Amino acid sequence: MHILVTNDDGVTAPGLLALAQEMKKLGQVTVFAPDRNWSASGHVKTMDRPLRVRETILADGTPAFMSDGAPSDCVALALLGLIEEKIDIVVSGINPNANIGHDVTYSGTVTAAMEAVIDGVPGLAISLDSPENHGGKLDYTTAASVARRVAEKVTAEGLPQGVVWNVNVPYLKENELKGFMVTRQGLRLYRDELDRRLDPRGRPYYWIGGQAPTGVDEPGTDFGALRAGYVSITPLQLDLTAREAMRRLENWKF
Ligand code: MN
Repeated sequence: MHILVTNDDGVTAPGLLALAQEMKKLGQVTVFAPDRNWSASGHVKTMDRPLRVRETILADGTPAFMSDGAPSDCVALALLGLIEEKIDIVVSGINPNANIGHDVTYSGTVTAAMEAVIDGVPGLAISLDSPENHGGKLDYTTAASVARRVAEKVTAEGLPQGVVWNVNVPYLKENELKGFMVTRQGLRLYRDELDRRLDPRGRPYYWIGGQAPTGVDEPGTDFGALRAGYVSITPLQLDLTAREAMRRLENWKF
């Protein structure tokens, strides 16, 4: 099996290294990641400038490709032929923070996996629900092991066309996990605030600030599963059509 490993935190991120090392247990690994952090940059296709690709190595000596494009650009470049050997699965992560609810379209981790699905290759996104304000090094051991177990399952069972698995892992030791739960997207509660400041010349500039998002703790959701100590697996589809709204609109006279 040939696994493409990518992320949105950049090629030097520890979560990428942990994921690449664990995926080597399943087969051949090619690492292709952005050369910088693209967190919360969403689904990108760079069309207004050339993309450069360079070879590098991870901290353990693993060879890797890096590009100045977004995570989804990296996946597109690889699948469009920059990597010549056929890729069987794309695994994106391990993101140091959860990607749940409405996060998924902001997320570079998830949209990299979505790019794989657009190109007809199974895509997995793996994120770690690390505690807020966690200082120091994060432990990616559990999330890496979960990623391997899920990737093994996906390759054994296959995924339906057009579906991405969005996997979120609680920040627990593996033997402390309650299990795996198939979930739907929960409701994220963003606490964004407009932070207006002045530059040294007195001109205004802005940050989207405020506190970290929280969510509604509801059973059956990604947020609820994490709160209860379960690995959350949410199958996502790129077809975002609101079918209920469609039925209503069909009765409108324009
Ligand atoms: Mn990230």
